[in-house]
Amino acid sequence: QPARLISSEKRGEDADATLRPQTLDEFVGQADARANLKVFIEAAKARGEALDHVLFVGPPGLGKTTLAQIMARELGVNFRSTSGPVIAKAGDLAALLTNLEERDVLFIDEIHRLNPAVEEILYPAMEDFQLDLIIGEGPAARSVKIELAKFTLVAATTRLGLLTNPLRDRFGIPVRLNFYTVEELEQIVRRGARILQLPMADDGASEIARRARGTPRIAGRLLRRVRDFASVDGAERVSRKVADEALRRLDVDALGLDQLDRRYLTMIAQNFGGGPVGVETISAGLSEPRDAIEDIIEPYLIQQGFIQRTPRGRMLTANAWKHLGLEAPRNLAA
Ligand code: ADP
Repeated sequence: QPARLISSEKRGEDADATLRPQTLDEFVGQADARANLKVFIEAAKARGEALDHVLFVGPPGLGKTTLAQIMARELGVNFRSTSGPVIAKAGDLAALLTNLEERDVLFIDEIHRLNPAVEEILYPAMEDFQLDLIIGEGPAARSVKIELAKFTLVAATTRLGLLTNPLRDRFGIPVRLNFYTVEELEQIVRRGARILQLPMADDGASEIARRARGTPRIAGRLLRRVRDFASVDGAERVSRKVADEALRRLDVDALGLDQLDRRYLTMIAQNFGGGPVGVETISAGLSEPRDAIEDIIEPYLIQQGFIQRTPRGRMLTANAWKHLGLEAPRNLAA
């Protein structure tokens, strides 16, 4: 199955960090989060202390990793990065933690996927900057305490609900990131075009922004694809027409929905009369893991008012029927 163009999951090209903002001032959008972080960073710097632990919550591609990197840079400390599923054993985490210097930022992506045995080690590390390790086995086993440097844990998760309460409680600074507005995405597209040295008309930028699913990562990806189409077509600059043609060839519709989004909506419409239908059934019908449906597909469809979550399952709204060009059942029609 080909990778989803529109998917907000990380892919190879994101390793190309050319589009990543480097400072809080360069970072577009998320005004509240930025203003708060600025205050906390200044305060921590003034006191010469480690910043309190930070938890970023929000759908993929909204800038959690980028903000974590920016924080380390603004604090003037090292940035170390890992992710929940990568830390298999307590010893892996111990190795990371003992290598940190005072006030360093340790970034753990997908923290909800941390193994419970590793999570146990993390509690005293976050709270008292101590490691409690058991060395050896059986009667010879003994516990040792290791002092750690006072570090800042910056963690990211796509879903707060999957975090255990004790872990959640240990973050002094929870920060929720929201989908970006079209205006913010336009700024991001224009900035990206400047960096890629791609001549961009205003209406071209707004066309890409409108179709980026509220997500900077997708805006960056669409921008690169549009650039490819434009250079093949010999277009001198990206106008609305050039952007629209490229995006249509990529099967991204006028609202930024891609094939998978439309399959999701169409399936609920045609096979389930618009719902309600449970997420497990949807997952089976689309052959997509439940996580991907809840983390990637649904948040944007909910935000756009295409589906509703009800206690009995997902339901299409009148808007969704309209977008699909199908007639809504009578009780829904406005
Ligand atoms: P997350 O960690 O939330 O999945 P990332 O921080 O990896 O998301 O961001 C994804 C991409 O989107 C990055 O490559 C970055 O270039 C871009 N990006 C994210 N937020 C912004 C922003 N506010 N302004 C400009 N580009 C952004």
